[in-house]
Amino acid sequence: MGEHKGNLFILSAPSGAGKSSLYKALLKQDDKVRISISHTTRAAREGEEHGREYYFTDVENFLDMIAEDAFFEHAQVFDNYYGTSKASIFSMLEQGLDVILEIDWQGARQVRHLYPDAIGIFILPPSLASLEERLKGRATDSEEVIQRRMAKAADEMSHYHEYDFVIINDDFDKALTEMSAIFTAMRAKTPKIQEKYGNLINDLLSL
Ligand code: GDP
Ligand code: ADP
Ligand code: 5GP
Repeated sequence: MGEHKGNLFILSAPSGAGKSSLYKALLKQDDKVRISISHTTRAAREGEEHGREYYFTDVENFLDMIAEDAFFEHAQVFDNYYGTSKASIFSMLEQGLDVILEIDWQGARQVRHLYPDAIGIFILPPSLASLEERLKGRATDSEEVIQRRMAKAADEMSHYHEYDFVIINDDFDKALTEMSAIFTAMRAKTPKIQEKYGNLINDLLSL
């Protein structure tokens, strides 16, 4: 798997911690980063578009894709299926693009197993009160859904230590700077530089 040029990132957080806001801001400022678009069986929210946030699909098609081994990883989260198709990530990595998987901790475990070079980033909210406030402020889910997501937040957060990096999303710009710094630093790892600047290094060492 080490022959791919881009880095594979796993981004996890309890619902409402700000993962989507952070990766969207990162995509705007860094043209080497792409988000993997997952398949999901949940209904599209107001403002979500097929092929942009997710590929929205029905359970039958999702199960067919599992049977065809089309998924890199998949999981059941809340009452829906979510999965990352193989097609959605490998071509981008081969082109040297960094790919973000916005997936839950179960998916993260599968990905680490399949792709040990994946770099995990966990986003935490500054407090439980602000997490609930953000879920309510987003106004995309019903009160019942919000309460279920809050109840699941502690469970999701208990896995933070399985990740390489943790960002506390209190001040948004500060969190974005931290996230961007992680992407930049991972590109400067020695094996990546050897891959990218092999000719330069040979030249420099030929003195
Ligand atoms: P959000 O929590 O408000 O961002 O709501 P979403 O519906 O976008 O995501 C719900 C959950 O599904 C999150 O925990 C994601 O991390 C997880 N998730 C999204 N896509 C994938 C995927 O492709 N694979 C896995 N395993 N989990 C995913
Ligand atoms: P997630 O993708 O983790 O579920 P979102 O990115 O949708 O979270 O963020 C949830 C809500 O919190 C959104 O309304 C977003 O605008 C808001 N939000 C995100 N980061 C911050 C922050 N640092 N301070 C205040 N509000 C934030
Ligand atoms: P939401 O319904 O709020 O968009 O997402 C619910 C949860 O599903 C989030 O925690 C999100 O990270 C997770 N999720 C989204 N896509 C995938 C995916 O492709 N695979 C897995 N395993 N989880 C996903």
